[in-house]
Amino acid sequence: MNKAKRKAIIAGNWKMNKTPSEAKALLEEIIPVAKDAGCEVIACVPYVDLATAVETVKGTNVKVGAENCHWAESGAFTGEISTGMLKEVGVEYVVLGHSERRQYFGETDETVNKRTKAALAAGLKPIVCVGELLWERECDITEEVIARQIKLDLYDVNAEDAKKCVIAYEPVWAIGTGKTATADQAEEVCAFIRKELAKKYDEETAQAITIQYGGSMNDANAAELLSKENVDGGLIGGASLVAAKFGAIIDAATKG
Ligand code: PEP
Repeated sequence: MNKAKRKAIIAGNWKMNKTPSEAKALLEEIIPVAKDAGCEVIACVPYVDLATAVETVKGTNVKVGAENCHWAESGAFTGEISTGMLKEVGVEYVVLGHSERRQYFGETDETVNKRTKAALAAGLKPIVCVGELLWERECDITEEVIARQIKLDLYDVNAEDAKKCVIAYEPVWAIGTGKTATADQAEEVCAFIRKELAKKYDEETAQAITIQYGGSMNDANAAELLSKENVDGGLIGGASLVAAKFGAIIDAATKG
């Protein structure tokens, strides 16, 4: 299997932006620009927007994702949201281990792993984010960091379940900074991730998993990033909040 056979996925990560009414309005702009997409299109939105988002995209090719989930089915976890809650609302994907969760909310590889397993058990498709900090890149340990994250975040996840996961390579220094990894840098690490997946599982599994790049991807740089053999899609923050830019990224992914 090669890139052409893998599922290309363009996912917007809205972060803490848009009220439910604003979410509806933005999705109504995204739906027409996504309708001829030759890739999967997902909007990952804040919890309170999920029900509105699911309702708004009904009958279209746009899918809805959450931005996190807890690993317990229910219980004394004030402020958390379970996988069952997401499923009942109609969510299909969930972003896990985003660097902002790791940086600001104490997310660790252990909790990312617990969330990933819970999401899979509930039938949700995890978008598992990995990526190095700037100083880790400067210390030339990018591969060590990524290899560790892949091992820990996917610990005890079998090959069949791993194929339901999307891996998002998001160098932390490129997120929300306007500093994009070059297409060659993105390709180098996405290829390395695939090699690690092949080591952990097997070549067939590694070739089947969609690997996205995320980090200041926009309408101007998407085509070059997405042309790379191991970059199967994008996880997009800022540019996913502007329908025209998000649409241009979808077009770039469609052209491959
Ligand atoms: C993200 O939030 O995952 C992201 C990549 O953000 P941005 O595109 O704004 O860098």
